[in-house]
Amino acid sequence: MTGAALNVAATRVGTEALGPGVRSALWVQGCPFSCAGCMAPDWIPFRPARRAGPAELARELLADERVTGLTFSGGEPMAQAAGLAEVARLAREIRDVSVICFTGHRLERLRTRPPDPGVPALLAEVDVLVDGVYVAALDDGRGLRGSTNQRVHHLTGRLAGADYDFEHRTRSAEIAVSGPEALLIGVPPPGLLDAFDLAVDAVRTRTTSPVRGQEHDER
Ligand code: SF4
Repeated sequence: MTGAALNVAATRVGTEALGPGVRSALWVQGCPFSCAGCMAPDWIPFRPARRAGPAELARELLADERVTGLTFSGGEPMAQAAGLAEVARLAREIRDVSVICFTGHRLERLRTRPPDPGVPALLAEVDVLVDGVYVAALDDGRGLRGSTNQRVHHLTGRLAGADYDFEHRTRSAEIAVSGPEALLIGVPPPGLLDAFDLAVDAVRTRTTSPVRGQEHDER
C-alpha cells in the first residue's frame, strides 16, 4: 500500500450520474458539517469504515476502461484531501481522467485557511469544484449540486466545454443493488429519494436479511 490509507464510505466504478461521461465515484467517510436534509447521514460520523490506500483505490476506480473521470464526494473530501490528491495523481498515471470534487467548504476558505494540509494538493488535481453546504430550502431540483447556494468552479478549462450544464441540467440518479445493500448514486431528482426510502423499507419488511439503504447526494 502506498501513501496514507483513506477512510472510504463507498466507491462506484462506472456511473453516468455524477458528471460528464462515464465516471467512478469515491465517497469518503466523515463530514464536519451537519446539513439538515443531508442524504448521506451515515457518512457524516468520523468513524472507521473501509481503509484503503491511494494506489489500490486508483486501480479500482479505473478498472472499467470506459471511465474517463473521477468524482470525489462524501462525507467531506477536504477532510481527507492529501489521500484524495494522491488517488487522483496515481489514477492519472494510469489514464488521463478528469476530476470533480464536492465540498461543503467555500473555495475562498480553502485557499486562504485550508482546513487540512492536503487541500492545496487536492485543489491542484481538481478540474471542477462544487462548493458550499447543502441548504434544503434552496434545492431547486436541478443541476449537479444539491442547492442553488452551491457554486460550480471550473478550476481548469477541461470540462468547461463539455456540453454539460452543471447548474441547470435535469437531474438523474442511479440505484445500485449489491447483495443486501442499495446505493443511490447522484443528485436525486425531486421525489426520488422518498421513493428510494420507501422501496428500501418495503424490502426490509419482506426479508430477514439486513437491507441497508445507503443514499447519497452531492450536498
Ligand atoms: S450534505 Fe454534504 S456537507 Fe452537508 S452534512 Fe451531508 S455530506 Fe456533509
